[in-house]
Parts: sequence; C-alpha cells; structure tokens
Amino acid sequence: MPKRFQNYIDGRWVDAISGKTFENRNPANWDEVIGTFPLSSKEEVDQAVKAARRAFESWRLVPAPKRGDIMKKAGDILTARKEEIAKQMTREMGKVLLETRGDVQEGIDTAYYGASEARRLFGHTVPSELPNKFNMAMRVPIGVAAIITPWNFPMAIPTWKIFPALVCGNTVVFKPASDTPATATTLVEILLEAGVPPGVINIAHGSGREVGNRLVEHPDVDLVSFTGSTMVGKRISEVASNTLKRVSLELGGKNAQIVMDDANLDLALEGVLWGAFGTTGQRCTATSRLIVHEKVYDKFVSMVVDHAKKLRLGDGLKDNVDVGPCINEGQRKTVDEYVQIGKGEGAKVLAGGKMAVGDGLAKGWFYEPTVLGDVTPQMRVAREEIFGPVLSVIKIKSLEEAIAVSNNTTYGLSSSIYTQDINNAYIAIRDIKAGITYVNSPTIGAEAHMPFGGVKETGNGHREGGWTVYEFYTEWKAVYVDYSGKLQRAQIDNAE
Ligand code: NAP
Ligand code: MG
Repeated sequence: MPKRFQNYIDGRWVDAISGKTFENRNPANWDEVIGTFPLSSKEEVDQAVKAARRAFESWRLVPAPKRGDIMKKAGDILTARKEEIAKQMTREMGKVLLETRGDVQEGIDTAYYGASEARRLFGHTVPSELPNKFNMAMRVPIGVAAIITPWNFPMAIPTWKIFPALVCGNTVVFKPASDTPATATTLVEILLEAGVPPGVINIAHGSGREVGNRLVEHPDVDLVSFTGSTMVGKRISEVASNTLKRVSLELGGKNAQIVMDDANLDLALEGVLWGAFGTTGQRCTATSRLIVHEKVYDKFVSMVVDHAKKLRLGDGLKDNVDVGPCINEGQRKTVDEYVQIGKGEGAKVLAGGKMAVGDGLAKGWFYEPTVLGDVTPQMRVAREEIFGPVLSVIKIKSLEEAIAVSNNTTYGLSSSIYTQDINNAYIAIRDIKAGITYVNSPTIGAEAHMPFGGVKETGNGHREGGWTVYEFYTEWKAVYVDYSGKLQRAQIDNAE
C-alpha cells in the first residue's frame, strides 16, 4: 500500500473533508507510487487561513531572535536528514541525487541565513524637524502569508519563502505543487519538530485551480508569494488585486549564455552543459539559448553537440546518471512540441530531438538532451520558455549583437557571458536586461543570501533570497515620540 499523506491544519494532521485523494508517481518509473495525498477544497483553505489568523496574534509577539532560533534548529534537522530527503526528492521529481542534495543544502543555507537575519531586521532612527521629539521607523509583521510553489525545487523554493515569512512574524498556509507534495510535507514536519507552534504553519494539498486560487482570493490572506509560470502568475496578480494583497511573483525565464570569441571554450562548455541539461532543463534559470560568436561558432557548437550526445539518461538515484526524466507526461509532450516547432521554423536538430527509449527508460518521461542549431532570434524556440532539455544555438558577430539577442525575450531572469575581456564583461553587466548576470559561470547557481528574481515578465519587481526578501515579509511603521510636553505642529510651529 502506498503511504497515505495528510494536510496539517490548525495543529492537526487530517485528510481532505471529502476523503478524496490524488496519487504522486515517480517520473523515472511510473509504476512506482510515492504516496496518496488529500485532494482538498476551499473549505480546508478556509480552515487553514482561520487557524493562521488566530496564531498570528501570538506568533507576532514572539521575539524575532527566538523565531530565528527555530530556523537554526530547522537547519540542523535538514542537515541531519539531508541524504534521506534528497533520495525522496529524486524519487518524487526525477532530478539526479547530486542536484537534490544541492536542493536540500539551499534549504539549510536559507535556514541559517534566516536565523542570522532574525537578529537584524534593522529599522531606522531619523532626526525630527521639531525639538524634543524622536522619530523611528520599524518593520512589523504583516499577517497571513499564502505560499504557492512549483515542483522543480521542491525544498529550496518553499524554504526561500516560508523561512523569511516566519522569521518576520507572519503565519503561513502552504500549497505546494501537486507533483512534489511529499517533500513539502517533510518540510512541514521539520518545522514542527524545530518548534513552530500549531497554527503558525499549515499545509493544504490539492489543485492550484481550487486550493491555490482560494488562497489568492481569500479576504483574510495578506500576502501571496508565488513561484511558477507566467500565465498563472498573471492570473494570481488579477485575483489578488480585488483584496489589495501584497504579491511576490517569480515566473518564467528564457536565459542565455553568451560565448565570445575570446572565451575559455572548455570552461564555457562545462557551463553550458550544466546550465542547459541540469535538472533536465527544468529550472527557471536553465540555459535555454546559447549565443556564440561566429569566430568560434563551428568549433564550440561541435564540442557542445559531442558532449550532449554522451550525457547519460536514467533514474537519478543510480550512479553515473547525468540527466533524469521530465516531470510528467504533459511536460515531455510540450518539449517535443517545441522541437517540432523549431524544426518547422528551420532549426536543425544537432543532438537528441526525440523521446528517449532504451534500457531502463521505458517507464519514465525521458527526453534526449537536445541541441537545435541555426536558430534565429525571431524563432519561437529562441523566445519562449520550453522548460526541458532543449538548447537553441544562435550565431552572432559582435558583443552588441549578443546582448541585443540576449535581451530579445519577454523574460529577464538570468544571463551569462563567457569572455576573458574585462571590458566585454562590464558592458554585458550594464546592458543585459535580467535580474541576474553571471560572468564566466553558467546561468544557474544562485546563493541563498543574494537577491533572486528577474525583470520584465519574469516577475513583479520583488526579490527572493538575501536581505531583500525580508522587505517583502514586513511593512514599515513610522513612530514619533514627542517628549516636549506640549503640542508641536509639524510644518506649522517650525515654519518660518
Ligand atoms: P505552474 O503551473 O504555474 O504551477 C505553480 C504552482 O501554482 C503550483 O503549486 C500549482 O498547483 C499552482 N497553481 C496552478 N494554477 C493556479 C491558480 N489558478 N491559482 C493559484 N495557484 C495555481 O508552474 P509549474 O509548472 O509548477 O512550474 C514551472 C514554471 O515555474 C516555469 O514557468 C518556471 O520558469 C517557473 N519557475 C520560476 C522560478 C523563479 O524563481 N522565477 C523558479 C522555478 C520555476 P498545481 O501543482 O496543483 O497545479
Ligand atoms: Mg511525481
């Protein structure tokens, strides 16, 4: 019998009110059921929000450094359970063990960073324009935070959101992706073991359309933090505007790696293989376009193609596997559709280009690591997010052209340039329109204490990670203390 998972609402582990469940299966072997999960409805969301609202009144009064101590403990538990969680995550969503270990490590880093930030949460003191008066601005918790997450970083992304929300004194209702509910449940268990009180954290499993949407429209939810597709992000923005919630959106990407004629090509090769095919290309920061200077185009593209063909597909739990499956059947179909679109537009399939079959692959959603050559910037495969193991290669003649092509997308998350010329590097840093620019490293590799997010349709201007996310989860309160013993009228009594 597969393991039966539950919701955690108002301090209790419970089934869906309807008793309905959904299954989660291993994308590398669809015969393997990870578990069954409650298929919740609006009612469960309403119960969870009510519990979170009630718990907020005591949680907001817990000193922030005490909340930080709980984060420290959560980091310790994650550290102790790292290997076991990584294995569960690989079974649940397919990426190789090396990467799921990294996913847990990002949660650990985020926990320890949160513990340290709990002792800062700095405010300002500002001189008053009146005598015997003291001005300060302090940051206060906001209320109930709805956390809605995707499946590609099942631990890291929830911790990026939930840990700072809690450190800042907010309470949480968590709706994880339906493809990775087990890892999400583990995170909640760890937070409870670390000392988060009942009601402060709640998890409701179920569909985005039902559970996610109810959270976003709920009048008693104050904040929504969402990572996922641009299409759903826009919908969330619309729905949340009815109740004027604060909303953070981290959405899609179409990230490019530029390789200039003076680049270290071996280094650039390692970078693009890791950036394009790590996590089977299913990262928001995945390298989806390779922009190569004409002088090194033929040489570099043949290096990439040779190596892409040698990548080993398979179950990420096995040694010697480089690339796991796509997350589900629908995602693999989308990938194949884009390859067909690319071919129709005149792109050449230089490697891969089809669903993978072969030993041990028959029962998984595998797709061959694919390189498309002769891509031009106008093609759909050069502009739209594919979210799979497909790299579109574009030839350019100059740095200016490379940057223009890099910017030729509605997204603006990550970017990269390989060059040995410091002038090229700084021009790229200045002119690439993206939230993140890497020099001589791939488009992936964010660190927990740095701002993370993008421009244009990648988001709505907020950043996760680092000190920046603590701005999102608090609001400013301005305080004036008048110790003059008389009425002092600003702009009147001190005016000339
Ligand atoms: P998705 O379909 O947008 O789903 C994301 C989350 O939203 C899931 O929990 C989903 O629930 C939920 N959801 C779906 N419809 C909803 C609605 N109407 N209201 C509220 N919630 C709803 O994205 P995905 O396929 O999981 O993830 C892939 C996308 O995420 C890609 O576009 C990728 O670029 C982006 N991403 C961005 C970042 C970043 O930081 N910029 C990081 C990772 C991924 P269900 O699972 O139940 O459908
Ligand atoms: Mg699954």
